[in-house]
Amino acid sequence: MAEHESLEYGKADFVLLDNVSMEEFMANLKLRFEKGRIYTYIGEVVVSVNPYRAMNVYGREVVEQYRGRELYERPPHLFAIADAAYKAMKRRNKDTCIVISGESGAGKTEASKYIMQYIAAITNPNQRAEVERVKNMLLKSNCVLEAFGNAKTNRNDNSSRFGKYMDINFDFKGDPIGGHISNYLLEKVTYRVMVPKHNNCVFLFLHQLLRGATDSLIRSLHIQKDPTAYNYIKVGGQIKSSINDAADFKAVADAMKVIGFTGDEIQTVYKILATILHLGNLAFGVDGDVTLIENTKLVSVIRELLSTKEEKVEKALLYRTVSTGRDVIEKQHTAQEAGYGRDALAKAMYERLFCWIVGRINDVIEVKNYDARVHGKNTVIGVLDIYGFEIFQNNSFEQFCINYCNEKLQQLFIQLVLKQEQEEYQREGIPWKHIDYFNNQIIVDLVEQQHKGIFSVLDEACMNVGKVTDEVFLQGLNVKLAKHAHYTSRKLSPADKSLEFNRDFRIRHYAGDVMYSVVGFIDKNKDTLFQDFKRLLYNSSNPVLKGMWPEGKLSITEVTKRPLTAATLFKNSMISLVENLACKEPYYVRCIKPNDVKSPLLFEQERCRHQVEYLGLLENVRVRRAGFAYRQTYPRFLQRYKMISQFTWPNHDLPSDAEAVKKLLQGCGFDHDAAFGKTKVFIRTPRTLFSLEEQRVEMV
Ligand code: ADP
Ligand code: MG
Repeated sequence: MAEHESLEYGKADFVLLDNVSMEEFMANLKLRFEKGRIYTYIGEVVVSVNPYRAMNVYGREVVEQYRGRELYERPPHLFAIADAAYKAMKRRNKDTCIVISGESGAGKTEASKYIMQYIAAITNPNQRAEVERVKNMLLKSNCVLEAFGNAKTNRNDNSSRFGKYMDINFDFKGDPIGGHISNYLLEKVTYRVMVPKHNNCVFLFLHQLLRGATDSLIRSLHIQKDPTAYNYIKVGGQIKSSINDAADFKAVADAMKVIGFTGDEIQTVYKILATILHLGNLAFGVDGDVTLIENTKLVSVIRELLSTKEEKVEKALLYRTVSTGRDVIEKQHTAQEAGYGRDALAKAMYERLFCWIVGRINDVIEVKNYDARVHGKNTVIGVLDIYGFEIFQNNSFEQFCINYCNEKLQQLFIQLVLKQEQEEYQREGIPWKHIDYFNNQIIVDLVEQQHKGIFSVLDEACMNVGKVTDEVFLQGLNVKLAKHAHYTSRKLSPADKSLEFNRDFRIRHYAGDVMYSVVGFIDKNKDTLFQDFKRLLYNSSNPVLKGMWPEGKLSITEVTKRPLTAATLFKNSMISLVENLACKEPYYVRCIKPNDVKSPLLFEQERCRHQVEYLGLLENVRVRRAGFAYRQTYPRFLQRYKMISQFTWPNHDLPSDAEAVKKLLQGCGFDHDAAFGKTKVFIRTPRTLFSLEEQRVEMV
């Protein structure tokens, strides 16, 4: 139990609840939020509720309070987790990771920044120049990534549209010497941005470019400052611009320079963004049976920005080269197909740009000149900032991917937490007791298994040459998975017979049931960018742009392999993420968003309950409690409770602290509820601990 906290603030650890019920959990969470205690533990997991107001708990003096302390010595805090991860890394040479999850706006990115800030504050005491340089790079790279990967939405002014995993490497002294960033779910990003009907959402940097670029840059890109002039932005509705846009633009441009982007690279970035804006304004029409571009002036602007030829741009937008086996023919798009191709191009360009930026940053921050033979092992702290479970009114491919990702992380959590417990019991020489919990591997398999899994069925459907529709995919699922315990097709009730198609399937996730609509699955899974566009960009005379599109080198007859589908790419990236995390010692932060209106006062009961459910927090408490609710080293235990026993107060004369603790617990009749390990005492039920606490309070 965290010290220095009185019970008027509720229980600092959910493990100490009298009963593990939703009611008690929620009551404690609410009480703590209302008392301004936004952090609470579940064992070593931090549960955080977004306060939506500046909390005065991140300053230098707070850093000092947590530095080098044990987790339970201070009130729950992100700094305690960061310190635990850092200590494990430094003292025990362990690679560690901090997994931060929660829904959009729950405070994940802020949490990851406080964690980084803490690590920055406690490292490099000698102010070594090289380490300071690395720290500065890591900081600057974050600024650039946020500008390109985050959007202003009506729910969150700085909403990350990508999942991010960042490794920070440390040398033997425990100082940062480099890092590596991986990004996930960008597919989701691009779909959201270009189709923002339900989701007011514009990437920050697009905004900053329009508001903050110099007049000469604006002119050279042939854009205008008014965001409403652009379809891709306009659809997003009225997004408030902020007075900071201009300053932010400059900060990002400067950060790119500091990181080491060349002048040509930065110009290319601007040109790509401008191209995307112009693309959105292209309109297609028909004249007889000819499809044409209505605003041809834009084509010449795009040509200039992409450093290519005008007729090539036009051709790529209006025609598609197809191979019929023997012949290569050019097939004209309908206006609708052309519009579809245009949007696919804009999305793909943004996505590719983002990945390229991440790659360039990685080039710069990767560890160089580190010789492990001379300097010892270089260790890592990984920080994962990724979407939690998503359940909307209408759940589609994106939610499906995110929820699959969360199943993977839950599986990892189960394995690691149980493994950690098991290892600790072994170390301490305590007999292992089986822990009963729901193992979600069956759901992970349902999604990712070869041949039978949902991703496989989807890829198969996409491979079909015939008429491929979302409904065909759904039928495939229904045939293959009819008997699966976690899959249900929505059965047509007699009243539903009029429906032409049944478009939903339901999955029983570990955290609850989610209904997915198959509409759009096929499209979103296929690589929708025509080869003609890839070739267009590859043939640009701008080497930076060309370098982003290596696969454009292939002509249509040379394209033999299908590009990997979005599902396969995502699955592969999740598998490698989990492999990477699995060999690290994990720490968890679970973020909760208390309301939808960014209010510091409002704790919306239902909304929060929903999140507690979908984050699997009760399960978490159960797993934790199934073993021992509390464990502490003998000396620390005595330090806290020695005043309640005549045998230990003020000092004991027993041969060891372990003996003394045993005697103390026997004296109160609690020894049957405890196990005595080599260095620690383990207490099974929280009630025992309350009682100890109460007796202690009476004494002091
Ligand atoms: P997420 O990354 O989960 O989508 P963010 O971390 O961007 O959410 O948080 C959304 C907003 O909530 C922030 O812009 C900030 O205004 C507020 N917020 C989040 N965490 C805190 C905190 N610890 N203290 C104060 N405000 C916070
Ligand atoms: Mg975020």
